[in-house]
Amino acid sequence: MESAEIRRRWLRFFEERGHTVVPSASLIADDPTLLLVPAGMVPFKPYFLGEVKPPFPRATSVQKCVRTPDIEEVGKTTRHGTFFQMCGNFSFGDYFKEGAIKYAWELLTSSVADGGYGLDPERLWVTVYLDDDEAEQIWRDVIGVPAERIQRLGKKDNFWSMGVPGPCGPCSEINYDRGPEFGVEGGPAVNDERYVEIWNLVFMQYERGAGDGKEDFPILGDLPAKNIDTGLGLERLAMILQDVRNMYETDTLRVVIDKATELTGVHYGAAHASDVSLRVVADHMRTSAMLIGDGVTPGNEGRGYVLRRIMRRAIRNMRILGATGPVVEQLLDVVITTMGQQYPELVTDRKRIETVALAEEATFLKTLRAGTNILDTAITETRSGGGTVLSGQNAFQLHDTYGFPIDLTLEIAAEQGVSVDEDGFRRLMKEQRDRAKADAKAKKTGHADVHAYRSIADSSGETEFTGYTSNAGEAS
Ligand code: ATP
Ligand code: MG
Ligand code: MG
Ligand code: MG
Repeated sequence: MESAEIRRRWLRFFEERGHTVVPSASLIADDPTLLLVPAGMVPFKPYFLGEVKPPFPRATSVQKCVRTPDIEEVGKTTRHGTFFQMCGNFSFGDYFKEGAIKYAWELLTSSVADGGYGLDPERLWVTVYLDDDEAEQIWRDVIGVPAERIQRLGKKDNFWSMGVPGPCGPCSEINYDRGPEFGVEGGPAVNDERYVEIWNLVFMQYERGAGDGKEDFPILGDLPAKNIDTGLGLERLAMILQDVRNMYETDTLRVVIDKATELTGVHYGAAHASDVSLRVVADHMRTSAMLIGDGVTPGNEGRGYVLRRIMRRAIRNMRILGATGPVVEQLLDVVITTMGQQYPELVTDRKRIETVALAEEATFLKTLRAGTNILDTAITETRSGGGTVLSGQNAFQLHDTYGFPIDLTLEIAAEQGVSVDEDGFRRLMKEQRDRAKADAKAKKTGHADVHAYRSIADSSGETEFTGYTSNAGEAS
């Protein structure tokens, strides 16, 4: 089943059951605690909190989402994209646990002929929060899921909050068993790749306060009403229904991988490392297009920095795959054509998106060229002095002054038989980061979805962006 059909069925199913269809909001969150939208519930947050009276008791949407904290997973797990689409159904003080569980089961397991997704019920495992006897009882007694396919998990998995003050609650997740080729048995509590999480049903009934970070979960009290917020990853369901091994091989992303192959001559399936690069390219180019489409432009802070990092990672991976010249125009073309079917504004806006992306590519290629010369000189000097280790100071300066990614430094150095004092490099990075943290503390800035930038900067070597520490989509 194509992604477009998955979406159509979702919206039709819930519309037929009294839900108002709400179009996806922009990725740029209309919420001061978030830079980008990480979940389908974001546009509905004021309804959950009781700040605004909902204009309808039920809603459904397919929301564009970006989760930068997942960036290091991309291409390595089978199921994490920086961009993905979250199908959701929402109840604002209307139906609660039993209603949400019944709808989810019906849609997943009813036959394709009957408008469902036709999943084999025997392959579905569910999780509930530690003390949620009520949810477990509904799964077991109302739906008939055998007790051995119901597992209880703790806060990290089964208590949802966005990582910032706001609505939260215990959740129940539906996972699909992809079979022994994906690893050992034992359910989602044991193996989250084999038993892949597809749908999270959040029983949104509490409000979370600020606290002092991730481990702390101060519940301020009950929300005005008991609500439902669910999220199903469209790409994850597509991966199952299209019978492919990971989300990057589904219809809307595979075409980008194929274009990258055409541009580099590296075939998908040739080697693990190049496969990871191809998957990163596909994911990151799509995310870049979607971000630029929603009005983000590359820059050194906030959303602009997220976009810059993601785009540069895509370009760098193309170079690791062997590309030497510009690649963005052709990759972008495939993304826009494919995603444009669901998001026609990408097509209308094609020229602007291209202009922004191509300018960023040109700037980055210039950076790479400058850095490469400096690095070559440093390597030559190291070797002529009889050394085999490039100093941490050299690597740090390349990164700090020229924005030259550390992994590229490592790679080029290795090609020339020189290693890099990585400990020294990390020490200098840490010193710089500590300074930045102190600065940020002084400024009291804070957004929820940017702790990952730090790790991007660490792995790619740039540190313009400073100061954010927390996480988004953290629980789940
Ligand atoms: P995981 O545990 O696999 O990281 P999650 O628990 O963080 O997922 P939720 O916050 O519960 O995810 O989001 C609801 C649904 O959105 C998930 O069940 C999944 O189908 C989908 N989803 C979450 N993160 C991603 C991602 N990075 N890429 C693709 N789909 C995602
Ligand atoms: Mg989850
Ligand atoms: Mg999870
Ligand atoms: Mg996650």
